[in-house]
Amino acid sequence: MILKGSLEARFDEALATADELGQRRKLDAVALTGQGRISRNGQQLVDFSSNDYLGLALHPELIDRSREWTERFGAGAGASRLVTGTSEAHLALEAKIARFKGTRKALLFASGWQANAAVIPALLAAAPGAAVFTDRLIHASMHTGCAAAGVRQHRFRHNDLTHLEQLLRDRGVNAPARLILTESVFSMDGDVVDLEGLVTLARAYDAFLYVDEAHATGVLGPCGAGLSRTMPNGVDLVMGTFSKAMGSFGAYVAGSERLCDYIINACGGFIFSTAPPPGVLGAIDAAIDIVPGMERERQKLRSLSDQLRQGLKTMGFSVGDSSTHIVPMIVGEADKAMALSRYLATQGFLATAIRPPTVPKGTSRLRFALRATHDATDIDALLAAIRDRGKQET
Ligand code: PMP
Repeated sequence: MILKGSLEARFDEALATADELGQRRKLDAVALTGQGRISRNGQQLVDFSSNDYLGLALHPELIDRSREWTERFGAGAGASRLVTGTSEAHLALEAKIARFKGTRKALLFASGWQANAAVIPALLAAAPGAAVFTDRLIHASMHTGCAAAGVRQHRFRHNDLTHLEQLLRDRGVNAPARLILTESVFSMDGDVVDLEGLVTLARAYDAFLYVDEAHATGVLGPCGAGLSRTMPNGVDLVMGTFSKAMGSFGAYVAGSERLCDYIINACGGFIFSTAPPPGVLGAIDAAIDIVPGMERERQKLRSLSDQLRQGLKTMGFSVGDSSTHIVPMIVGEADKAMALSRYLATQGFLATAIRPPTVPKGTSRLRFALRATHDATDIDALLAAIRDRGKQET
């Protein structure tokens, strides 16, 4: 029996509110089918929503190595890292990740969400009262990390370093330490941070710079190693996931030896969570071997995204400041984004609508995630469908 006033009754209220706001979310089963396609309810769609930017999720070498490492080492790691969960394979892969990222050390995490949610409070535990400065558009997992630390964020306008400097001056100078949180490529906007400016500012104010490269890893920077590799001395902490361009699952946090030692000793999400299993390690290992050589695919991504941005702009749509493989088509209201997404599905394209609270109110959008497995003809066809829809509306 469900009593009035029960927690379950509140679930119903919350779901009803989400319905009213047009924000009710549900799960649809889909399957990646290669060539930038996905199947949903028996329909083949050109997939502009998955983050498998380089098409590695179905790559035979990732699949083979994952299978091979599972056969050799087993399906599970057995325990958390500090108990019996650290194998030679974990240590070797972490050394390989550090070489890829150009850092002294790296640590594996179960997911990017878990890494951000767990590492941020661990860092802040070292300096109670530290001031935290966050770009307004940082990912939900970093907000979770700040909330877990119980800190109030000083939010700076998106990619606005003048605003950040003002906040550092006003709120940071007397704090025991300063932490800046940002992304190198923003997940919903596809724009790029001014990393050089940020590093300079962080040095000037003795702030610790934490950069999430979830969407840059594999795609941007030398050999696809991310934008932090373009900085001669890197950044203080760089994290990213293996679940997007790298094709599989899991995440890394990379930086100095001191940082990684501290995390091993202070981060609950590292200490109390079972180590990633061999199958996942194998897929990551293969991706790090393959990705540096995928320059042709990275070039193709650049050309496809230029084509899409140009086409959308010609039709008068805003793509914000996108300059990467993530191209938003900002339409404003959530209903409009939803209707356009539904229409495109009838035309054979999957482009998920992104709406509040994921993006700020009034900036609902279709987020097109491009893949090296798309072709110029896919972009042409998508643009034609959008153009037709526009004609139907006028
Ligand atoms: N950071 C950013 C910027 C992301 O976009 C995501 C994934 N949506 C994550 C972290 C979380 O990574 P994961 O999917 O590996 O949990």
